[in-house]
Formats: sequence, C-alpha cells, structure tokens
Amino acid sequence: MTIAGVEKSRGTATLYDELGPVREELNKCMKCGNCMAVCPVYLTDKAEAGVARGKIAVAEAVLSGELDIVDPDVVAMLFNCLVCKSCMQNCPTKVNFDRIMLALRAAIVRKKGLHPLKNMIFSLLKQPKLFDAGMKVGAALQGLAFRDDPSKKAISPRSPFAFVGKNYGFDLHRSLPELAPTPFRDWVPEVVKVKDAKTRAAFFTGCSVNYFYPQVGEDVVEVFKENRVQINIPKDQQCCGIAVFVHGDVKTVRELARKNLDAVEKSGAEYLVTACGSCGGAWQHEYSELLGDDPVYGPKAAYWSARTYDISTFLTKVIDYRLPTGKVEAVVTYHDSCHLKKTMKVSQEPRQILMSIPGVKFKEMAKPDACCGSGGSYLLTHYDTSKEIAQRKVADINQTQADQVTTGCPACMMQLLDHVGRFGRGQKIAHYISLLAESYRREKSGGNGNVR
Ligand code: SF4
Ligand code: SF4
Repeated sequence: MTIAGVEKSRGTATLYDELGPVREELNKCMKCGNCMAVCPVYLTDKAEAGVARGKIAVAEAVLSGELDIVDPDVVAMLFNCLVCKSCMQNCPTKVNFDRIMLALRAAIVRKKGLHPLKNMIFSLLKQPKLFDAGMKVGAALQGLAFRDDPSKKAISPRSPFAFVGKNYGFDLHRSLPELAPTPFRDWVPEVVKVKDAKTRAAFFTGCSVNYFYPQVGEDVVEVFKENRVQINIPKDQQCCGIAVFVHGDVKTVRELARKNLDAVEKSGAEYLVTACGSCGGAWQHEYSELLGDDPVYGPKAAYWSARTYDISTFLTKVIDYRLPTGKVEAVVTYHDSCHLKKTMKVSQEPRQILMSIPGVKFKEMAKPDACCGSGGSYLLTHYDTSKEIAQRKVADINQTQADQVTTGCPACMMQLLDHVGRFGRGQKIAHYISLLAESYRREKSGGNGNVR
C-alpha cells in the first residue's frame, strides 16, 4: 500500500502515517459519555462536537468514507481540542484519544498540506540559526508593540497592536512574558562542572525556558549545583517539536527528534532532565513512538526515553536531593500541567519538593489537574474558549488564598500569567523549581523572607 507522506526509507510507518490502525482505538469507545464531565472544551461550549465521544463519531465517519477529512467543518472540529488527555483519565475503556486526534491531524496534513503560515513557521524551526535570529530580532523590537507592566512582571500590547490583535486575545489587558534579550543557552556554559559530581545530566531547556523564562534555566542550574550534578546544556539542541506534532506536521517533528537525539547523545550525559512537561513527554513517549522502526534513531529514542526525567522526579527518585534549609515565606498552590501529569505521570514529586521548603505553606486547589486552557497554540486559535477555561482555573486558585501559583510547565506559566492577571488577586506565577533554588540561595545568603 502506498501512503502519501510515509518516510519509507527510514521504515517509520505508524498510525501517524496511515489512518487504518486508528480503528482499533475507535472501537474501544463505548459512547458512555464519561469524558463529558472532564473535557474543558465541552464544559465551556456544551456541544457534543467538543468532546472526545463526538470527535470519535466523526473519526468513524471519516474512516467509513461518509465524511471527507479535509471538509472545513471536520477540520475545525478536530482542531477544537487541547489534546489535554483529561478525557482519557475518565475513560472506562482506556481509549487513547490523544493518539486518535494526532493521527487525524496528521492525515489532514497528508491530504491537504500545511496552512502556508504554519508551513513558514514550522520551516523556521528546522533552521535553528534563522529561528534564533528571528527570536532575537523579536526581543529587540518587542517594545514597539508591547509595554512593560512591572507590577505583573509582564508585557502587554500597546494600543494600535491591541486593536489589530484583539481577535487573538492580544487586547490591552493581555499579559505575556517578555522575550529575553539574550536567550538562556547563549550565556550559560555548555558544561557546568561541579566538584565530586554524583552524576552527569543533560538539561533539555525547550524553547520557552530558552527564550521566555531564562531565570527558570538559571534555577535548574542552581539546583543541580547544590546537588552535585554535572550539567550539560547542549548548544545544538532544538525545539522538541510537540508544537508542530499537534498540528499534524509529522515530518518536522521527526526531523527535530533526530537532531535532538544526536545533540544529547553527544553530551555524554547519563540522564536527560527537563523542566517542561511537553518537552519531557516528547522525550519519554513521542520520539520513540514516531521513530520506533527507524533502525538508527528508534533504538536511540528508546534509550533516552528510559533516561528522561522531569527535574522533580530526578531529584526525588534518582539522586535523593538535599533538603533545603533557606526559609521562603509563601503560601503556595500547584497546578498540574496536563503533559506533566497525564503524559509523564508526575504529580506528587513537585508537591514533595514544595512541601520540603522551610516557610512554604502548601494549599491544594479543588481541581489541581484541570486543564488551564493553554494547549500550546490553542490559546491563540481559540482564545475565547481558552479564556473561559482559564477563568475556571483562576477561580479555583483564588479559593486557596495562595499568593504563589506554581507549576511544572512554562506554557502553563504563560497562560496563568495572562489569566491570573485578568481574574486573579495578584498572585505570583513561578516554576516550582524556582522556589527550591531560592531556598538554596537563601541558605548561602542567610536571608529569609518572601520569594523574589
Ligand atoms: S469516556 Fe471513553 S468510552 Fe466513554 S465516550 Fe468518552 S472516549 Fe468513549
Ligand atoms: S483531549 Fe481534552 S479537550 Fe480534547 S476531547 Fe479530550 S478532554 Fe476534551
């Protein structure tokens, strides 16, 4: 069988290369509707088209030939999903709905090609020097379209730009992290050596830490140093590719995966550590699935899949981290990122770390693992729905009375920054690792008080 888009020479045909194998997943759905109770899109729109059951019915019609997968209504329905996996947690027959969704989107791209704008952006990702230069130009010029909002540690659109961008949520009240003038990997040494190192770990920063949250990268380095882990930050690592994978661009994510595997292999590290649920999920699951039959990269992907850890799991399960003693006075709650909890199965470890910090009072939300509505680019393409989902999340945050909202995913941090700014009570947003780093720093400075 000839399938358009299959990279036959590499032997990597999967359900992302042909739709047939998806039928097995579709057959597992018994149409019970349990997914309706947890689907953030359905809870907002109240339409069957929003929930897994409705999308599975459409997928069945596509496979039986009743519907054309590139029919604009079908495409719109299939992209109105955060791929958050909340439905999978509530599914009695364990339908792997994320696989169905990603396979269908890949099939759309095979038949119709990528939208020209997506094609242009995703092509840039494959040219890291050009992408990096573009981000630096963006950082240099961001002041033209955005103004500083020091109270929120954010930037917000200026009036003319807000008028043009309001359909994508870029109104005057939108809060965004500023693009770092110098990306993290430009100034951090490629190898940070420590005396009597226990082990060597590579740090995969991801784009968000590199370009938007370099202080999180700095905090990761601080925590590694305090725990005598030699850290290697490969300069030639690239985007993890998850953002393009969810848009059906299988070819690009495979290309990025191969380059990343080479970069990390070259580092000579024993482990790979991430501070982003999406990047970590790609390394633990997607790379080995996408490259499974590739004779060269399949085994590499499997090797690194077993050695990839979120930094919280690495600290608590692999190296038995040193308990901090610096006092950080803060009332803290924790938001479970969908990719961190539902893909990497990490939820207790960040809480364990937070609760080990002297001075931290931990308050749990009623629904800490409810999706925040980010979904990568979903917050741009479906801003109104994303905003309503986030509003529910912030209401939950508000009832904890916490003054800090922590999470383990920079994409969630961006979404929380915007919507806590709109609906919250001035809570600070932080990566949980930043509180641990701060506690270690305070040990050395002898300082106490509120976290920076
Ligand atoms: S919960 Fe699972 S089995 Fe039930 S309708 Fe949703 S996807 Fe189908
Ligand atoms: S992945 Fe999330 S948004 Fe998509 S159908 Fe499932 S619960 Fe709804």
